[in-house]
Amino acid sequence: MASAPSIQIKPGKLFIGGKWVDAASGKTFATTNPATGETLTMLAEASEADADAAVAAARAAFTSGPWAEMAAADRAKILWKIGDLVDKYVEEIGTLETLDNGKPIFESRYVDMPMVAEVFRYFAGWATKIMGDTVPVRGPFLNYTLREPIGVVAAITPWNFPLLLASWKIAPALAAGNTVVLKPAQLTSLSALRLGEICQEAGLPDGALNILTGSGKVLGRALVTHPGVDKVAFTGSTSVGQEIARNAIDSLKHVTLELGGKSPNIVFADADLEAAVRGATIGIFYGKGEVCAAGSRLFVERSVKDAFMEKLLDRVKKMQPGDPMDPKTRFGSLVSEQQMSTVLGYIEKGQSEGAKLVAGGSRVTTLGNGKGCFVQPTVFDGVTNNMTIAREEIFGPVLATIAFDDVEDAIRQANDNPYGLAAAVWTRDIAKAHKVARRLQAGTVWVNTYNNYDPAASFGGYKKSGYGRELGAAALEHYTQLKSVWVNLA
Ligand code: NAP
Ligand code: MG
Repeated sequence: MASAPSIQIKPGKLFIGGKWVDAASGKTFATTNPATGETLTMLAEASEADADAAVAAARAAFTSGPWAEMAAADRAKILWKIGDLVDKYVEEIGTLETLDNGKPIFESRYVDMPMVAEVFRYFAGWATKIMGDTVPVRGPFLNYTLREPIGVVAAITPWNFPLLLASWKIAPALAAGNTVVLKPAQLTSLSALRLGEICQEAGLPDGALNILTGSGKVLGRALVTHPGVDKVAFTGSTSVGQEIARNAIDSLKHVTLELGGKSPNIVFADADLEAAVRGATIGIFYGKGEVCAAGSRLFVERSVKDAFMEKLLDRVKKMQPGDPMDPKTRFGSLVSEQQMSTVLGYIEKGQSEGAKLVAGGSRVTTLGNGKGCFVQPTVFDGVTNNMTIAREEIFGPVLATIAFDDVEDAIRQANDNPYGLAAAVWTRDIAKAHKVARRLQAGTVWVNTYNNYDPAASFGGYKKSGYGRELGAAALEHYTQLKSVWVNLA
């Protein structure tokens, strides 16, 4: 494989109060490259004592000192600089992300990391525009509002878009003047640690961002239950999100949850079918399908289904996993052996419940050293909306194709799922597109496109896909609180 790392990967330390330190326990854990099974380096394994230290550093930075006293315009400059440094080091951070996660370097280098930079610059712009109102109250009073930061934010993030999803939390939190303790996923912590160095280089004051590597069960839980944490911003699975909401209730922390999905991608007979085929493949196979908004349920109107499937399968059969470090690769390695066995388990389940496997379905062991977590892009036809592969989030490259008869049938089936993260509609009928968009229970609806994101466009879930919104102006509401001030003018 061409995946010899062109960069040095250091052992990972914890970033607490501007210092790089070992875990209090001295424990470490390995992070591996899922495309080869090889250990990339060892990372410090933080636990409760380190959580205490990081929360104390974040609290101190929030309460007094350079960050607490900094003008919004100066916060903006630092955030902008972080974005520019991400651009400057894009080859290196992109490489780290690919080695750690298995996603194609094409995605890390040209999609994810450029968006990280954009997210920091977008929220840099907001820092000076977070403001209150003057309120027309009755009586001889002046009433105005102050929009203030919440305090110490614990950001807990998953492994699928490691640095990108961390930036969605860190950038708005810092723009609003909060301080942050970030816990990236154990599988993919390297890019977050590199971001810590970048923040130092950009002049972010000590303690404004702290980074702890370690397990969700110990470290994540310690942060969620910590009395010194004011808000938890979480992206991950619905079951862990539910546990976090339960664990945060005693201290009544603010909580935002970006959770799983089982997003319907609906193709009407009057759609541009070529475009819809491209959208369906990008919708499920971008990021190896380890994408919360993946279009994993493909609904195709019965009258065009055979023609559509023929075109779709032509396209899918040309897609094969490849070396993630090869710039030509568009489909990489799943993130871990555990994730691969989950995905293969769902493929078996699909067959045993009577769905028809029409593409892929197997692990690929002919790449590199044969130990990578490669699974073929997989398509099932003849799926019904009540089969397991249509109900549960697989979080892998497995597409479930379901037929529908008309608009009502499409909407009913699309909404018949516990999740509500995203959805897409393909049609040339503009009125139909808007009507269906309104009736889909999802936080994002794409019309004649799929997987578009922008730092200015809010993102988040309906139903069991969570609550709160990331990106856009909406995100700032979740990193600020409103104070109402009354002044007696009599
Ligand atoms: P996960 O198992 O829920 O883990 C997410 C993060 O939470 C990891 O950092 C994990 O630590 C930590 N964690 C685990 N248990 C915890 C606990 N009890 N208390 C506090 N933290 C805990 O999810 P994942 O497998 O990494 O990611 C896949 C899931 O994320 C999918 O369901 C996907 O849909 C969802 N996702 C959603 C979005 C969105 O925006 N809606 C985006 C991406 C992914 P470890 O390091 O120990 O794993
Ligand atoms: Mg890894």
